[in-house]
Amino acid sequence: MEVMSSNFIHGFIDEDIAEGGTYYGKKVHTRFPPEPNGYLHIGHAKAVFVDFGTAEKYGGMCNLRMDDTNPTKEDVEYVDAIKEDIKWLGFDWGDRFYYASDYFEKMYDYAVELIKKGLAYVCELSGEQMREYRGDLSTPAKSPYRDRPIEESLDLFRRMREGEFEDGKMTLRAKVDLASGNFNMRDPVIYRINHMHHHRTGDKWCIYPMYDFAHPIEDALEGITHSLCTLEFETHRPLYDWVVDNISIDAKPRQIEFARLGINNTVMSKRKLRALVEEGYVAGWDDPRMPTLCGLRRRGYTPKSIRSFTDQIGVSKVNSIVEYGFLEHCLRDDLNENAARAMAVLDPIKLVITNYPEGKSESFEVENHPNHPEMGTRTVTFSRELYIESTDFMEKPIKKYQRLYPGNEVRIKSAYIVKCTGCKKDDDGNVVEVYAEYDPETRGGNTPDGRKVRGTIHWVNAEDCADAEIRLYDNLFTVPDPDSGDKNFLDYLNPESLVVLKNCKIEKSLRDAKPEDRFQFMRQGYFCADSRDSSPEHLVFNRAVSLKDSFKK
Ligand code: ATP
Ligand code: MG
Repeated sequence: MEVMSSNFIHGFIDEDIAEGGTYYGKKVHTRFPPEPNGYLHIGHAKAVFVDFGTAEKYGGMCNLRMDDTNPTKEDVEYVDAIKEDIKWLGFDWGDRFYYASDYFEKMYDYAVELIKKGLAYVCELSGEQMREYRGDLSTPAKSPYRDRPIEESLDLFRRMREGEFEDGKMTLRAKVDLASGNFNMRDPVIYRINHMHHHRTGDKWCIYPMYDFAHPIEDALEGITHSLCTLEFETHRPLYDWVVDNISIDAKPRQIEFARLGINNTVMSKRKLRALVEEGYVAGWDDPRMPTLCGLRRRGYTPKSIRSFTDQIGVSKVNSIVEYGFLEHCLRDDLNENAARAMAVLDPIKLVITNYPEGKSESFEVENHPNHPEMGTRTVTFSRELYIESTDFMEKPIKKYQRLYPGNEVRIKSAYIVKCTGCKKDDDGNVVEVYAEYDPETRGGNTPDGRKVRGTIHWVNAEDCADAEIRLYDNLFTVPDPDSGDKNFLDYLNPESLVVLKNCKIEKSLRDAKPEDRFQFMRQGYFCADSRDSSPEHLVFNRAVSLKDSFKK
């Protein structure tokens, strides 16, 4: 894969690895640290590309670390899914897969070290009191426990670990600066009591380190040189540095923050995505409407299109919301170039070529891609009865309509020119069959006399086509920002985000489509064989993206 374009982080790293820089002569080492409490989404993909992509650019390494210091909501299912998604994006952590919980013992020792140095103390303020005592810009925070003897804190901290106290009774706080203008530095809590089962350490621990204390230690222990994270951690950086500066550890990782990715017409918080799944608004984490990587993948997205998306939005210090249409634009670009063409009729009506002999059929070799002969050809069969799109016929044409209407000629893509002669209707006046005559001189769709035929329509052969279910998707939410306003985001769910067409007809070559195979269905859009529900007996295709690009640069 090619390397990312302009990116301010690279400027910082260039300085650090230049002669005289902190990391001169060292390998750049980053990490991607997801919390295993949900599936990765497109926002995480940006972080994955920043972390792994940076390591790749500098010939360095990137660790994959499950940030599982919070015992409340973690699950093995998520760990496996996260690994799979990162591999799918094309990255590899080699043998550098870690769990933050593996460092609990070391973190405890570092906490003890801080207490011994007079840099941490056990505080008995409740959460509510702590908020009350936190002060404001002109008033420092306070804690009556700040100057308790070191021995007393050591004893209490040990007993906290042993389970003597209930949740919330005490905390361990770093002794930093109660008057700091940065509230994160006002003696932050670094350990809390939580009698809860942990998915890996079980019931061994009932005290857990806070993120701001744990994360710099995890980074330092793994020898991370550059800890790349999102902007909300900027005001936590002084504490990050304080921790590594005050414990006995050699490594001094550098934290660099970049802007979070937001996309409109969707939600990206894992809590909200989980609610959509658990309350049954979508079919699962991999529902093709979800902004999760497994959802996008099932929808038909390619790793390449996601990389192109993250590359083009770039890495900056300014949070911004990207249009969903831009993500679609990137997919369309990729599939236009790389997806094989095929024909599928979504809303079929029969077209009978009345002057074509019954029982006869003929084959046409058609290219799989107009610009890529190396993608080969396939055979389509033409005969007396075809299926065409019902919208490709109008008994009484509207203005500028160039498809089938009595007396008009159209090209049956790659086959023949036909002239419409009429239709048959049922008792309710609905058209049930369309009639036409073909011109045998126009094999391949060419007119030997050079006469102009404006419309070209796609079709399938009635006799050997396959049946398929086709799922059309639209935005999951009807408004650009379902998170804003007073209403619950669920109130903005789009009732038409999924339309299922059960009666579609697809050309015979598509019978062999494998899960995740992607195609351009001519005149319709880009489609992907559904990885969960499609089988040779019941073919299911997802519309990944329509043909029309509404995105304006
Ligand atoms: P949530 O708040 O939804 O639970 P999170 O940020 O806590 O998400 P983590 O699992 O902690 O999710 O994220 C792992 C990494 O991915 C972090 O470094 C985080 O900064 C980054 N990340 C998460 N969301 C985004 C986003 N929208 N854009 C860029 N990076 C993101
Ligand atoms: Mg997080």
